[in-house]
Amino acid sequence: MDYDIIVVGAGHNALVSAAYAAKAGYKVGVFERRAIVGGAVATEEHVPGYQFDLGGSAHILIRMTPIVEELELKRYGLEYLELDPLFHAYDGETPWFVWRDVGKTVDALERLFPGEGANYQRLYDDWLPFAKAVNETFLSTPGPLELGQKLIYGSGFQKDWQRRLSQIMRPYGEVVKQYFSEERVYAPLSWMAAQSGPPPTEPMSAPFLLWHPLYHVGGVARPKGGSGGLTRALKRMLEAHGAQVHVSAPVKRFLLEGTKVVGIELEGGDKYTSSAVISGTHILETLKMLPDERVPDIARTVRTGNGFGMILRLALNKKVQYKNHLEPESRVGLGLLIKNEHQLLKAYGEYLGGEPTKDPPLIAMSFSAVDPTLAPPGGEVLWLWAQYYPYKLSSGTWADSSKDSRAGEARDNILESFEHFAPGTRDTIVGELVQTPLWLETHLGLYNGNVMHLEMSIDQMFGARPFIGGGEYKFPGLKGLFLTGASTHPGGGIMGASGRNAARVVLKSLAKPIFKLRK
Ligand SMILES: Cc1cc2nc3c(=O)[nH]c(=O)nc-3n(C[C@H](O)[C@H](O)[C@H](O)COP(=O)(O)OP(=O)(O)OC[C@H]3O[C@@H](n4cnc5c(N)ncnc54)[C@H](O)[C@@H]3O)c2cc1C
Repeated sequence: MDYDIIVVGAGHNALVSAAYAAKAGYKVGVFERRAIVGGAVATEEHVPGYQFDLGGSAHILIRMTPIVEELELKRYGLEYLELDPLFHAYDGETPWFVWRDVGKTVDALERLFPGEGANYQRLYDDWLPFAKAVNETFLSTPGPLELGQKLIYGSGFQKDWQRRLSQIMRPYGEVVKQYFSEERVYAPLSWMAAQSGPPPTEPMSAPFLLWHPLYHVGGVARPKGGSGGLTRALKRMLEAHGAQVHVSAPVKRFLLEGTKVVGIELEGGDKYTSSAVISGTHILETLKMLPDERVPDIARTVRTGNGFGMILRLALNKKVQYKNHLEPESRVGLGLLIKNEHQLLKAYGEYLGGEPTKDPPLIAMSFSAVDPTLAPPGGEVLWLWAQYYPYKLSSGTWADSSKDSRAGEARDNILESFEHFAPGTRDTIVGELVQTPLWLETHLGLYNGNVMHLEMSIDQMFGARPFIGGGEYKFPGLKGLFLTGASTHPGGGIMGASGRNAARVVLKSLAKPIFKLRK
């Protein structure tokens, strides 16, 4: 046996699983297809002197887990920089800020938009217990009874449960307007809720808004040096515990003995054996590594959706300067740049018709404001996430090499949209990276460019993620094969909860024979 546990892929979830296993004393081998670890949580110097994240940037969810402390990642070089304000909400005229401190946010909102501060406080008070209960469900294997108990009883809304339940089942685009009447307040909050993928009109999507109170609890942070600081620290921690992390090591297939997975074979032909294999790739990639007859029909029906966003990463030779700029607040937190609600709805409408939106709302990130290691002195990194962009287009292609490529046009429209908020930025660009849905698929293995792996809709959440029957981190019908990653509960985002939950399941299953032996 080469290893006790083999982990396929080195996305942050896979690394978290591997780290818990190594910490428990198991011999662990990680095999990653790319030349660097991290998957969608990685940072590279794409333009000389400028560090670009390749995927996720805002570390929110992971900070509501005990992972960083339990794995002692600080010891292995992880340093989190807090963002405060957390958000810069802006329609192009009137900026307002969500501060870590709820009271400060409420007071400032009340001064700017009388009545809306009190409404913000009401949203916070109404939903904080629910948001905390949702977070708890993220940190455990999703059993149906446990889920119901935590959400209904743990949320503290027994008395008022009918009204609350009906709100949870509604689209977030409607629920936000039950709280706020000022569009400059509700449009950015709706836009933040849209980050998980489902549009503001989707029933059962309100939880994407209703966990907003948690931002004040856990904050929004950045690893110093870029998002990849998290996955680099995980790699160091693994190596310090004797694990081997192999990069440029694409896995071709699982080795099977009957219905037991006993190892892996790499593209190059090398074989490695182990007692358990944890696959942390996209679920569709995992299925490719199995013989056809071992793939349950239902697994083939997972919905990856048609992509939803793209990102333009810019290296600037000057700091970002918004219209009505407030220094340094405007550049620190996530910029929720949206002109009005219509802009988001229109973008979604264009997307449904297979068209990249012409005038996207943006999440603007200029984290060199808090981390000078990201850009040369005086310079700035500016990353503009935009929605919505279909992976399959009604006309043209995303391929750069094609004369029908829509990549240049989409890039120009993102920039044009940003000029509304910060005119003149265009003239300060010294380098860039355009990440279309096709780029995300080709370089990061995110099928159809879905950064959450699979659609984050209710039919594919909790125990139904990635598919019914495969929702407890164990691959159905096969011994020794376990799943982690954004394709599993609780889904996409930088959280690591899936990695931690999966590790618990694997370690429990491996502990059994030892326990029997000792008896
Ligand atoms: C542009 C972008 C912006 C985002 N912004 C945010 C954000 O700000 N905040 C947030 O919380 N989330 C964000 N996300 C989402 C978040 O980053 C992802 O959902 C999350 O990182 C997925 O992690 P994972 O470990 O589950 O899987 P992945 O990161 O997808 O890792 C899977 C790994 O498996 C490897 N692999 C695949 N096939 C093989 C094979 N055959 N052999 C070996 N290895 C293989 C891949 O190379 C990859 O390293 C963003 C994502 C993107 C792309």
